[in-house]
Amino acid sequence: MSEIYATDQEKLAVAIAEARRGADEGGIPIGAALFDGEGRLLGSGHNRRVQDDDASMHAETDAFRNAGRQRSYRNATMVTTLSPCWYCSGLVRQFGIGRLVVGEDRSFFGGQDWVAEHGTELVVLEDEGLIEMMGAFIRDNPEVWNEDIGEDDTAPD
Ligand SMILES: [Zn+2]
Repeated sequence: MSEIYATDQEKLAVAIAEARRGADEGGIPIGAALFDGEGRLLGSGHNRRVQDDDASMHAETDAFRNAGRQRSYRNATMVTTLSPCWYCSGLVRQFGIGRLVVGEDRSFFGGQDWVAEHGTELVVLEDEGLIEMMGAFIRDNPEVWNEDIGEDDTAPD
């Protein structure tokens, strides 16, 4: 019997643990986790841009890949510590993930409203600890952060 993560706060705690793991590895502290309709953990992961030298390995992508193939995502919940970028919002929409839980959307605001407009239930928790952690990371690492959100600072203004 696998554990049931009944509440969104319990689900978010799994994503936060992933974000901390990413930070401990010297990476960008964003974590995510995918749950089935009953609240069982299917897979979790964290941003691995720095660790894997892979610009496409965002937290949601890592969690999604670690979950393996699922027949349906309609009843699934994707939990992410930070508002999903357009790329990860595209993943949620592409696979028809039914619920999206966002830890905070103050540090960054991606495509969450767009996926909500297309039928995904959206919950934003505005977790104070996450807002603090992400704010500190962005202040201390502006270059890797701008790279992660696709701000091309090599381009002429
Ligand atoms: Zn992303």
